[in-house]
Formats: sequence, C-alpha cells, structure tokens
Amino acid sequence: MFKRKCDPTLLELPNNVRPRQSTRAKRASLRLNNMEKCIDLIIPKRVSQSYIQRFVAQHHDWITQTLKTLPEPVHFENGVRFPFFGETLTLNIQKDNSFKTTRISKHENILTIQTRLDTSVQRLKRWIIKEARERLETLAQEKAALINETVGDVHVRDTTSRWGSCSHDRNLSFSWRLAFAPKHAIDYVVAHEVAHFVHMNHSPEFWGLCEELCVDYKRGKKWMRENGKSLMKYQFDVFSPERDPK
Ligand SMILES: [Zn+2]
Repeated sequence: MFKRKCDPTLLELPNNVRPRQSTRAKRASLRLNNMEKCIDLIIPKRVSQSYIQRFVAQHHDWITQTLKTLPEPVHFENGVRFPFFGETLTLNIQKDNSFKTTRISKHENILTIQTRLDTSVQRLKRWIIKEARERLETLAQEKAALINETVGDVHVRDTTSRWGSCSHDRNLSFSWRLAFAPKHAIDYVVAHEVAHFVHMNHSPEFWGLCEELCVDYKRGKKWMRENGKSLMKYQFDVFSPERDPK
C-alpha cells in the first residue's frame, strides 16, 4: 500500500507545536523547546503523513499539559519589574525623538532607557549581556583568588541546559541569563565552575571545594535544578510575542 510521505506543511498541529524534519532521528518524538516556548515535533525521514498525525493525536494530552508548565513570558516593556543580580529593577523607557543615541543607565533599582527607537529591547539585551559578563567575571576572579588560581577568558552565551562550563585552560562560559537568577544561585554556578579548576570531575572532593567557594551551594544548586528553566521566560523578541496567530 502506498503511504504518503510526511509533508510538515500539511499536518494539522495544535498551537505551538512546530514540525522539524530530521535525517538522523529514528522515530517520531516530541520535545519541549524552552528557548522558543514551543514543542518541537521531530519527524524522521521515512514516515507517512498519517503516522505522524496519529502520533500527535496520541500525545495530545502530553502536549497540552507540557505547554501549561511553561512560565508566562516576561516582555521588556515600560514599567516591567525583573530580577537582576539579586535586585529587582523597574524598567523606565523614555522615548523621545530628541534623543540622538540610545542610553541605558541604572540608578538604584530603576533602569532607564532613553531612546528615539520604537523598540529598544535589543539594546537592552546587549546591555544585560555586557553587564552579566562583567559581573560573572568579577565573581569568578574573586572565587579563583581564594584558591590561588586565575581565570582565563570569560564568555557568556544563551544556553538552555548548561548554565556554566569550564575548559582545561581555565576559560569559563556562562549563560548570561544567570543575571535573572537569585544571588545564591549565581554564586553556586560560578563556584561550581571555579571548583573545576582543581577537580575536573564531580567527586566528593569537588563538592567539598564547591562548598568552600560558595555561600550556600546546596540552596543554589537546588534553585538551579528546580527553576533554572524559568530563566528562559525573559523574552527579547522585537516582534509580536504571539508566535501563532491561529
Ligand atoms: Zn560540573
């Protein structure tokens, strides 16, 4: 019997389920995509349209439940309050055509953007990334100094699962979204990576050092495990947040 090959554009899918064809996947699967706030439907090469359609129908409840677990997205509009390295900042956007350039300044817990741009969210994102890199680097240096070590380069990235990493040449990489985590959680992630300077494993000795370098590593670790994914709720898209107008 001839089976029609799956054409993703012809599938009938619930809102926020996005088809992705894969040449490597052996079977169909559904994967929560925290970064994009949707569910990726992985479609292997040799499957029929009806098979995929049935697969989605069988997992309808899972899709609905899983989408419900996504935290409400936070958009950086005027007046929004958001955590930033342990403070709670309020965003104050002043739009005026007389501003020649976009300026971002922080005074106590007010973050002011003076701009003539219709949307300054990408500028804000750049500011947050720069600030996060500097603060994470300073914190890493402080911790490294406690064990007579020095930090190589510090990079920041937008990662969904690894909040920090450490290379053999003592370069560190962090998610800049740690900026939105509570202080004890940031402290833990940085202490963890610096502890890898001495122990490139997760042995009891490693955790012992982690504890020494950290204010409260158990609490920070717990927060990251339980809430780390929520750091993805801060949205910097310029366009309408409704991805699916259906
Ligand atoms: Zn580790």
